[in-house]
Amino acid sequence: MHQPELLAPAGDLEKLRIAFDYGADAAYLGGEQFGLRALAGNFDLDALARARELAMDRGKRLYLTLNAYLRPADMPVLAEYLERLKPLELDAYIVSDPGVLGLLRRVDPGREIHLSTQANTTNAEAVRFWQAAGVRRVNLARELNLDEIRVIHGETEVELEVFAHGALCVAYSGRCLLSAAMTGRSANQGTCAHPCRWRYALVEETRPGEYFPIEEDGRGSYLMNSRDLCLIEHLPRLIEAGVHSLKIEGRMKTMYYLAAVIRVYRAALDRYLANPAEYCFDPAWRDELDKVSHRPYDTGFLLGARDALVHTADSKYRRTHDFVAVVRALTADGRALVEGRNRFFPGDRLELIGPGMRQAEFSAGELRSESGEPLVAGQPNARIVMDLPAGARVDDLLRRERQDR
Ligand code: SF4
Repeated sequence: MHQPELLAPAGDLEKLRIAFDYGADAAYLGGEQFGLRALAGNFDLDALARARELAMDRGKRLYLTLNAYLRPADMPVLAEYLERLKPLELDAYIVSDPGVLGLLRRVDPGREIHLSTQANTTNAEAVRFWQAAGVRRVNLARELNLDEIRVIHGETEVELEVFAHGALCVAYSGRCLLSAAMTGRSANQGTCAHPCRWRYALVEETRPGEYFPIEEDGRGSYLMNSRDLCLIEHLPRLIEAGVHSLKIEGRMKTMYYLAAVIRVYRAALDRYLANPAEYCFDPAWRDELDKVSHRPYDTGFLLGARDALVHTADSKYRRTHDFVAVVRALTADGRALVEGRNRFFPGDRLELIGPGMRQAEFSAGELRSESGEPLVAGQPNARIVMDLPAGARVDDLLRRERQDR
C-alpha cells in the first residue's frame, strides 16, 4: 500500500514549523505573486529560502502555489519571478493556468508540477491530458465522489490529491465571479471578499430602497453560505480509492487551527497505516476538530449526489475552545515562558496540546512577567512565565473552553 501524504497549508514560517511538527508530510505556501491568497502573509524569496531549509532539515516537502490565472502583462513578470525561484529548488509548483504551466516548463524544465483544484479536473481523460502536459500530480475537483475518484485512479498514473478538510466555496472548483462582480476583488486573483457569506434581501426594481427580507428562518437568509469539509471519518476509503495526498485547506488559518487539525489527521493516518485491517475511527478525533473555528462540517460530494451543501442558519463560525498561548521556552527553574494569544487568568482551567495527540488539563497558577513581576492576567502578545504540566514542550499550545457557548 502506498503511504499517503498529509499536506498542510502554511501562511508564514512559524505556521510552517507548526505544520511539520504537528505531523504534516508536506506543506504548500504562497510566494509574493500569483498564489491566489493575496492576504495570507505570503513568503518573499528570503522567507522561501528559510522555508526550504526548514523542510529539508525535517525531511519534508515544500510546494509553492502559482495557481492564479494570468493576464498578458503578468507573463513577463512571472518569467522573471520563476528565474529567481529556480535556485531554491522547491519540491513542486502548484498551477492552474496552462500558460503558467507552459512557461514553467520552459524556464525550469525539471521542476515537479502539481495541478490545482482550480483547473477543475473531473475525469481520467483530463488527468491524462494534464499528465502529457507535464503534470505529476492532480488535485481533483471537489465535485467528485468516492467511486469517481476510484475510477480515475484505476485509469491513470499520476498522483491524485484531494481536499480532506477546510472551507469550501459554493463554486466548488473556484470558478466564481461573485466577488469580482460585486466588489472588484477577484477570487481568481486571490482577493475574494467572500460575498457568498453575506446576508441578502430582495428589492423590486420600482421600489429602490425597500428591502424585502428573504428569510429561511427568523435569523435571515444565507443562500450561498457553504459548510466546511471534514473527511476525517472517511480516510480509509479515500486511501483505498487511490488518493495519494490528503490536503488541508487554510493558508489564512491560525497556528492553533493548523496544529489542532493536523495532529488529528496525523493520528488517524498513523493508526490506519499501522494496521489497516484493524483500523477503527476514534470519536475523540471528531471532538477535537470541533475545538477549532469552523462552520458546520459536511462530507461535501464524497459520498454521492447530495442536496445543496449550503448552511442556511447563519454565517457564523463555531468553536468550543479559545487559543490562549503558545509555549516559547522552558526555563531553567522548571517553569515555562509562553506568549499570549487571548486573555487568561490565574485559576483558569486550561488544556495543553502538543504533537502526537499529547494533551493535559490543568489550572493556571501564578503568572509573572519575564522580569518576575506578578501579573493579574495573561494578555495577547505578552510574554508570561508560568507552570505547565510535566512533559510540556516548546511549540505546545494552550487553550481554554469558551464560557459563552
Ligand atoms: S465568493 Fe464565496 S464561493 Fe465565490 S470564490 Fe469567494 S468564497 Fe468562494
